[in-house]
Amino acid sequence: MNRRDFILAFGALAAMPGERPVRLRSNPFTLGVASGDPAPGGVVLWTRLAGIDPQRVAVDWEIAEDDRFRRIAKKGSSLALKEFGYSVHAEVGGLQPGRDYWYRFTAGGEASPVGRTRTARTSSGAANPFRFAFVSCQNYEHGYFTAYHHLAAEDLDVVVHLGDYIYETRFGTTIVRQHEAGEVFTLDQYRARYSLYRSDPDLQAAHAAFPWIVTPDDHEVQDNYAGAISKNEVPPEEFLRRRAAGYQAYYEFMPLRRTSMPAGPDISLFRKLSFGNLIDFHVLDTRQYRSDQPCGDGRKPRCAAALAPSQTMMGAKQENWLMTGLRSSQARWNVLANQVMIADVAQPVDGTKTYLMDTWGGYVEARKRLMNFLGQARPSNPVVITGDIHSNWVSDLKLDFDNPSSATVGTEFVGTSITSGGDGNDSVPEGLLEVNPHIKFFNTRRGYVRATVTPSLWTSDYRVVPFVSRPGAPVETRASFVVENGKLGAHRA
Ligand code: FE
Ligand code: CA
Repeated sequence: MNRRDFILAFGALAAMPGERPVRLRSNPFTLGVASGDPAPGGVVLWTRLAGIDPQRVAVDWEIAEDDRFRRIAKKGSSLALKEFGYSVHAEVGGLQPGRDYWYRFTAGGEASPVGRTRTARTSSGAANPFRFAFVSCQNYEHGYFTAYHHLAAEDLDVVVHLGDYIYETRFGTTIVRQHEAGEVFTLDQYRARYSLYRSDPDLQAAHAAFPWIVTPDDHEVQDNYAGAISKNEVPPEEFLRRRAAGYQAYYEFMPLRRTSMPAGPDISLFRKLSFGNLIDFHVLDTRQYRSDQPCGDGRKPRCAAALAPSQTMMGAKQENWLMTGLRSSQARWNVLANQVMIADVAQPVDGTKTYLMDTWGGYVEARKRLMNFLGQARPSNPVVITGDIHSNWVSDLKLDFDNPSSATVGTEFVGTSITSGGDGNDSVPEGLLEVNPHIKFFNTRRGYVRATVTPSLWTSDYRVVPFVSRPGAPVETRASFVVENGKLGAHRA
């Protein structure tokens, strides 16, 4: 039995009584704390020890009903192992639903910063709106994470991260601050990259303020990879070793449950999180199981390969899981936490329509299956939230994107990057909105989307910062869009 199977078989990495205490030279909690995947009675508490070298360290944790730790709700001890980079993922249960808790860790006489978290609610929230934010694409080299400073001051039930948490190599030429090294390939290199990102105080504050639900996109491993296929001409066996290193580091640094502990090049990330009967998050993984980008990737006119029924974005297993989950959902709002843009975007180049082959636009039949499903099964209020594309969009999802009068089957809110692409602006490419009538809003500002959800109304506020190339930007709401319960499609608030 290997270590992973052992842990899965016997549950927690709980420290045994009498575990020999370790003396530490300095505070090991420099990477901060986090919590994630909230359930009605529990949550995952995360930290990671830095700058230490024994084989294992016992880390104590406690979670309290108050920020001064007078009323301790639960406490325990976990082992931080060298082979997991001294990460701690403590799965706490037995808590009350829908309330705030505060938590901290101690090891070797040193204490972590205090984090705040919130368990999932069990009610519909009629009197108490559900608030969350979604984020993506935080290229450290492209700017300051000021958006996270503002996000941390919001009142949120949860933060959803839709991928590109790190960037594996340098992109673009306008570099505001530098990565610690060049392109990363090995586990230790990925760990160093995450450690750099997690050293950012604004990112740490956002993790310490709310529980997060996370799912990766491509840059957690490599730009535009697809399943076992690298963007370079690297044999799949070799690329899968790199993918294993990327997934391992991702797990080590994220507040994920043990069920998401990777096994070699595989990681289990598609999952459902429910908040009463108000909102279900169907969290997707559109990288690990997808077929290769058609037509040689990039921006292309639609070629035959993009229309092939064999094109898959989620893989058959995940696709079935999603449809089963949507069919059986009891929630008023059904969110698909998705990576790459699903609404069709035709960009005219010299009179020919072109499409990004890495988005759902390169997987036309797979998208048609999903749109047809939404049209026929009619799950309650489907809303897709998306990252990847470093710009803000609001779109109706159409049964047939080539026919503007076809039925609307859902709404997609695409959130911009935290920093990727650098300082943004409000300009719209010529013809974009005319050629794609289902698109209602676009800009390339930086920031995050804040959603306020009640049984009767969904509101998306596009929160933007005017610059990321230097610290200290203010935040404002650039636009707000609403979806009314039972009515498909978004409109301006
Ligand atoms: Fe990105
Ligand atoms: Ca991406």
